[in-house]
Amino acid sequence: MNSATPAPGDKPDVIVVGGGIGGLSSAFALAREGLRVRVLERAPEFGEVGAGIQIAPNCTRILDEYGLLDEAKELGVLPESMVMRDALDSSELTRLDLRDLERRYGFPYMVIHRSDLHGIFLRACQRAGVELLTDQTVIDYEHTDGGARILLANGGTEEAPVIIAADGLHSVARRKLVGDDVVSSDYVAYRAAVPIDKVRDNGIAEEDVTVYVGPRCHFVQYALRGGDMFNQVAVFESPKAVAGKDDWGTPDELDAAFAATCDTVRKGIPLMWRDRWWQMLDRNPIETWVHGRIALLGDAAHPPLQYMAQGAIMAIEDGWVFARHVARQATARGGAPDWDAVLASYEAVRVEHCRRVQSTARAWGELWHLDGEKRLQRNGIMRERNARDYGFTDWVYGPTALAPDEEPPMFTPIPLSSARLEDLEEMDVQGEPVDTDAESADATALAGGAPQ
Ligand SMILES: Cc1cc2nc3c(=O)[nH]c(=O)nc-3n(C[C@H](O)[C@H](O)[C@H](O)COP(=O)(O)OP(=O)(O)OC[C@H]3O[C@@H](n4cnc5c(N)ncnc54)[C@H](O)[C@@H]3O)c2cc1C
Repeated sequence: MNSATPAPGDKPDVIVVGGGIGGLSSAFALAREGLRVRVLERAPEFGEVGAGIQIAPNCTRILDEYGLLDEAKELGVLPESMVMRDALDSSELTRLDLRDLERRYGFPYMVIHRSDLHGIFLRACQRAGVELLTDQTVIDYEHTDGGARILLANGGTEEAPVIIAADGLHSVARRKLVGDDVVSSDYVAYRAAVPIDKVRDNGIAEEDVTVYVGPRCHFVQYALRGGDMFNQVAVFESPKAVAGKDDWGTPDELDAAFAATCDTVRKGIPLMWRDRWWQMLDRNPIETWVHGRIALLGDAAHPPLQYMAQGAIMAIEDGWVFARHVARQATARGGAPDWDAVLASYEAVRVEHCRRVQSTARAWGELWHLDGEKRLQRNGIMRERNARDYGFTDWVYGPTALAPDEEPPMFTPIPLSSARLEDLEEMDVQGEPVDTDAESADATALAGGAPQ
């Protein structure tokens, strides 16, 4: 414990609800500013479920500032390229040279086991004196004079001047303060991390992140843990979900979804874990994340579909922005931060950025999953892209904005209709109108993300 650690029973400066990547990284960021932080996690232990996660330069930049990048590099892998291929014929559509990308943004693109990234923040919190409590299920929130209070399932209560609700997609705070519902995409993800020897004969690219995009499905592959393990994610539209059935995304749908894909993808499917799957849900963006002294953060505030690979990164950025505004306010006032000003500054800059990522993720997913003529149009446009064109990544991989006027402009969308017809194979022309909105699947956007 450091001097900032609240003694048991003392009121902390900040309570963080939820000890996922968002909660722990924010707790660490605030403890670095000398605040007394208490994290309340409902699980009996801190941990993460799942396999790999991709972290782009807008995250590794923050890890570097926290002094955690070297540890992450030791545990993760720095792939050479991110390659997008057509899942049916396996042809290459476009690529990002991740070495050149590192030169452009100053920080690497990394893949890392989810539990390793979580462990880095957990250890950092322990070193920084964050009070870490498990078996603490928060069931309600109340406003108080000068702060907020939470009610625990065990009957206890806790108070602080500020409460950060980082309790994920199904956030109790979000239900109470906003009351909206999750949105189902009817897609489901299967994951697997297997020893590399199990996939070496499957035609894989061990040095790359490869994303195979196909009609109503996609498949992602990359190496983990120094190349000893191989991560795979299979995502597809569930026919049962489309038919309105409750029990959807079950393993019986997995094989059929990838039956028409190329050899490398089909060889990967039998290796997927079949005892657990993730229905792909998000929420519509909202404009108010701060209610009194309670702030939503991470997936509780802005759960995206994972197609930009920015969900955990946005949560880490949230905590970094929050802490930077604490530092600014504390310096300006020569002591305790003006919490209302901190919360207002946090909300002012993060809401719009995360709205853009959430909306682009939905459009990016639609673009990946196109079929028929639109698939060919997409492929044609992607093949035309210059591998060194960063117009589609600058808005997201550059430095995280601290104020609205620092938020970079978004990319310029390319309408599908601009694909050169002579590049397309013989297809029925459906003559559907092309929507040129940046946040539509009919505009191609190489936003640089891929799900883990
Ligand atoms: C298939 C898939 C692939 C992804 N790939 C990437 C990627 O490559 N890169 C990336 O950046 N993001 C990725 N994401 C998104 C990323 O996983 C999430 O956005 C991120 O984990 C959200 O972190 P969080 O801390 O906000 O929420 P969570 O990880 O959900 O953590 C919430 C925590 O709060 C706790 N909690 C919940 N309710 C309560 C309560 N009532 N009381 C106390 N504690 C509570 C939970 O136990 C949990 O520990 C992916 C997501 C999926 C599904």
